[in-house]
Amino acid sequence: MFGFGKKYCVVCGKEVEENKNNVRFGKNFCSEEHAEKYVAEQKKIENLEKQMTMDNKPQRTQRGGGCC
Ligand SMILES: [Zn+2]
Repeated sequence: MFGFGKKYCVVCGKEVEENKNNVRFGKNFCSEEHAEKYVAEQKKIENLEKQMTMDNKPQRTQRGGGCC
C-alpha cells in the first residue's frame, strides 16, 4: 500500500520526509518554519474568536430565562 501513512505539510501541501517530521497539534509540517507559521496563525484565529465571543456576550445572557 503505497501512500498509506504518508504525511503532508498542512501549510504548503508538500510531502513530509520522515526524518524531517515536524509535528504541532498533531499536524505535520515539512519544516520548522512552516510549523511555526501554523502555530502563529492558530494564535491569530484564537484571538479573533476571543474577540467574537466577547461581542456575542449580550446574546448569550438572553438564554436560560424562561424556566417553568
Ligand atoms: Zn510546508
